[in-house]
Amino acid sequence: MSEERWLCKWSEGIYDSTSIKDFLCCKRRGYLRWVLGLQPINMPAALAYGIAAHEGLDVLYGEGTTEDAIRAAVGKLGSLEFTETTKRNAYTLAELIESYSVKYDMPVEKNKTEQTEVQFAIAMPNGTIYSGRLDRTLIDNGARLVCDYKTSAYKPSSKWFTTFDNDFQLLGYSYANRSITGDCTGYMVDAMRVDANAADCFAREQFPVTNLQYEEWENTYIYATNAIRSLIQKMQGKNPLGCIMDWPCEHTACKDWGGCVYKDACIYGPTSNAVKITMTMGAPDRKADD
Ligand code: SF4
Repeated sequence: MSEERWLCKWSEGIYDSTSIKDFLCCKRRGYLRWVLGLQPINMPAALAYGIAAHEGLDVLYGEGTTEDAIRAAVGKLGSLEFTETTKRNAYTLAELIESYSVKYDMPVEKNKTEQTEVQFAIAMPNGTIYSGRLDRTLIDNGARLVCDYKTSAYKPSSKWFTTFDNDFQLLGYSYANRSITGDCTGYMVDAMRVDANAADCFAREQFPVTNLQYEEWENTYIYATNAIRSLIQKMQGKNPLGCIMDWPCEHTACKDWGGCVYKDACIYGPTSNAVKITMTMGAPDRKADD
């Protein structure tokens, strides 16, 4: 998970999976988040916790010990502005990293690792750049995989894992890994439940990716980024704040604004007082993840 802003700049033809997913879900959401850079003032606790856990796991799979990983994770959490909850705080995070390290046999697991935190920028057939960061790449029983860490409020059950079947972001990561290495069998979701007691909250599932899925992902990427470029072109010479109607609401996607952090911006407009209270506007980044 990255906080770096170069990873996605629509105006320069650089796109990451999260921004494309936003656009495919709702064009308006894509505009508010990735064109205007509208984001909540306070980072959601789930996102802050996820960023900190990634930091710890990166150290764990690198040169660090479990203690180093806990220090890194807790230090990262402390540097982020978010509201602690009973489940998401420094104590449960330290427990999570410690239990993860015990659950998985680290020397063996580390040996499967090819790379951690792989930053990529891939030239795509339509002249755009697909960018992002892979949590970990590994070889497991001869299969080359991309591993993505997921912290969740729910116990990672087999039903929960089905939500990652044909997932756009994870297919994209596999596509990137295949472009870099020439071969990628698929992806692995490495899930950990966030709880006050972190023991036995871990599960993993592998998802093979077919050639058809790779082809389909590339087609979807090209379709979405071409559409975004057209809408950006349409904005040339105009005040970006006045272009909201060019980026239509997708009411079926948000189920009439359910759960979307941009609800107020859709109802009152992005410069309204209602929005100013809870959101800031600036260079787009990932803080608005929800
Ligand atoms: S509230 Fe709904 S329509 Fe508005 S940006 Fe979010 S998903 Fe789109």
